[in-house]
Amino acid sequence: EEAKEPPRIQRLSESVVNRIAAGEVIQRPVSAVKELVENSLDAHSTSINLLVKDGGLKLIQVSDDGHGIRLEDLPILCERHTTSKLSAFEDLQSIKSMGFRGEALASMTYVAHVTVTTITKGQLHGYRVSYRDGLMENEPRPCAAVKGTQIMVENLFYNMAARRKTLQNASDDYSKIVDLISRKVGLYRPRTRTYILQSSKPHCNVNHGATRADVHTVATSSRLDAIRSVYGISVARNLMKIEASDNNPATSIFEMQGYMSNANYASKKITMVLFINDRLVECSALKRAIEIVYAATLPKASKPFIYISIVLPPENVDVNVHPTKREVSLLNQEVIIEKIQSVIESRLRSSNETRTYQEQA
Ligand code: ADP
Ligand code: MG
Repeated sequence: EEAKEPPRIQRLSESVVNRIAAGEVIQRPVSAVKELVENSLDAHSTSINLLVKDGGLKLIQVSDDGHGIRLEDLPILCERHTTSKLSAFEDLQSIKSMGFRGEALASMTYVAHVTVTTITKGQLHGYRVSYRDGLMENEPRPCAAVKGTQIMVENLFYNMAARRKTLQNASDDYSKIVDLISRKVGLYRPRTRTYILQSSKPHCNVNHGATRADVHTVATSSRLDAIRSVYGISVARNLMKIEASDNNPATSIFEMQGYMSNANYASKKITMVLFINDRLVECSALKRAIEIVYAATLPKASKPFIYISIVLPPENVDVNVHPTKREVSLLNQEVIIEKIQSVIESRLRSSNETRTYQEQA
């Protein structure tokens, strides 16, 4: 058989490139919600309302009372790599905002219909404009608006048939959204109020009306209050405070604070809420390490509830390793994990001994 001629290499068109990239940033409805709510938090909102239809596939609408967007910025708002949060690469080291890539809104316009309504301080009226594939579909139109920004994302993945098909189970994403909001806003910014409304729940026609929210995070004062309001009394009652730190440049520099479940807590699955430098992130290595400690220390195989906030020098965290910014990587990760593991273990042992003693008494 004769060798085939090599196929020609072509440059992909910009719109194909953008749609592929968009599908990575916005993987499912909950990823759009995450980006929108992060933007609302970055805009210093104190109240966020979320409306979801059909698990987010039909509609995701986020309204906030943040600083709004300037009229003159609307033309480039949804282009790729346009942001108000970063200008030089070096800024990444000290970045406090959750966004910085200027990709989220752009991505949404490549896989959905996006409409923005916004008003800035001191203006008599706001502006509304719709976007498609990064660009404005029309000139911004003056409209009535209250403080802040409302972003409407309709018909998510309308142009990605395969993605829509894999996302048939709308209630699945709705619970992911509820969980995200509880953690992200309820725990991270306990002073922000949120309401989530889902109209027309999948598979049933109950209409909740506009006044009842499925999830409602209230402004609370302490972390423990926030945990109690999000996860309930029975969780909060069984938590112990933990702390760990290291300040040795040769091994690791970090400070950790949090809550861990005691020996009385019973659950079939692990709940881990992890903040690193105020970002809600995942760290599968740490999660596994903690699970192992609980399994080895407690007689009954109860999975833990863990809330941990780790602060370390910004230059020791790379926030730029994952397109959704979900996983971060840490300098000296193994050392940090080991330290946390041993603090949890000794705390757990002493709580388990007290419990055994109480049971015998
Ligand atoms: P990033 O958050 O990475 O900057 P986005 O695409 O999410 O990128 O948003 C682009 C820009 O749009 C933001 O930098 C911000 O200036 C503005 N923006 C987006 N959402 C809001 C909002 N809810 N309120 C005020 N400004 C917003
Ligand atoms: Mg953003």
